[in-house]
Amino acid sequence: MSKQTVFISGATGFIAQHIIQQLLDTNSFKVVGSVRNLEKASSLKANFKNHPDLSFVTVGDISEPDAFDKIFEEHGSQFDYLLHTASPFQFNVSDYEKELVVPAVNGTRGVFKAAVKFAPNVKKFVVTSSFAAIGAPADYENSKIVFNEKSWNNQSLQEALNDPVSAYCYSKAAAEREVWTLQKELKPKFAITAVNPVYVFGPQCFDSSVTKTLNTSCELINSIVHSKPEMPVPEISGAYIDVRDVARAHVESITNEKTDGQRLFMSEDRFTMQNVADVINKDFPQLQGKISKGNPGSDKAVIERMAQCDSSATKTLLGFKFKDLEETVVDTVKQILKVEAN
Ligand code: NAP
Repeated sequence: MSKQTVFISGATGFIAQHIIQQLLDTNSFKVVGSVRNLEKASSLKANFKNHPDLSFVTVGDISEPDAFDKIFEEHGSQFDYLLHTASPFQFNVSDYEKELVVPAVNGTRGVFKAAVKFAPNVKKFVVTSSFAAIGAPADYENSKIVFNEKSWNNQSLQEALNDPVSAYCYSKAAAEREVWTLQKELKPKFAITAVNPVYVFGPQCFDSSVTKTLNTSCELINSIVHSKPEMPVPEISGAYIDVRDVARAHVESITNEKTDGQRLFMSEDRFTMQNVADVINKDFPQLQGKISKGNPGSDKAVIERMAQCDSSATKTLLGFKFKDLEETVVDTVKQILKVEAN
């Protein structure tokens, strides 16, 4: 059987590279990845060892409403599946609406409309949404709340523009809403799945991506590896999932009809940064005494105050076991230490 073609936006991303790797490993797909410029594509090509089933196309800033049109007009008829992962995930921004909300929403609308117009063979559209679309930051410390696949972040744009974290969360909720709304309006032939991960940890797909500062979620772990013993452990908590499980959820969504119309709440469990520090101090004796130890045991009270995450429906639907905190943190730190030793 000839290979089917998957288009993936944001091919340079932390999560996207793992998705591409897993797609190529199946030997069943050709992959076309979009990148902002060809310089980025050439290093990715080299990392994927010039894989014959992988090619790249250039799509500029996805804030532009027609950013995807040209590429889809040219190549859209080849695409069987679409994975839309591109979206800004960073908090170091000054204009929250322009830098976070506009690219998230316009990018999603743009790729969806381009698919409807120019890609008649697409059978499935998988959008990388987020826990940010499930819960509003104001509810994270409300232990009476249980988030699940049906929960939505209903924060208004006006409230969200107060800080970059809320603005990012709003951007993801607004972008995912756009998908479900466009499905009703445009009635595309393809089915849709949203993948909604919590904080995504785990190793970079390639060692060359281990730089001084990592992508936003992995930087939390990197910050403990590079902390000083006298430094406090950051008061950040949430829920976690490993990047390899997030990538697998995307890949399986392509062909698993049970995921059609579903939101996949990709959450293994809750964590605090104290839990991350505990794992690193326990599993990397060479770092003991050199990095923050924090206050072991302090996590329990924090977790009791947090909202709960019930991802049981997603776990049952996907049917594979998600990696636990120790495995994802250890694999992240091992890679950082290996790269830094060289
Ligand atoms: P990442 O490494 O920062 O990747 C983001 C990707 O989006 C990159 O390819 C980036 O391109 C592209 N992008 C961002 N803004 C763009 C713009 N204005 N125009 C064109 N391309 C743009 O982040 P990631 O963690 O892999 O995130 C990927 C997706 O997962 C995002 O949709 C994010 O919201 C979602 N997500 C991530 C987490 C997490 O904890 N990591 C959790 C939940 C959901 P460049 O390389 O050119 O900048």
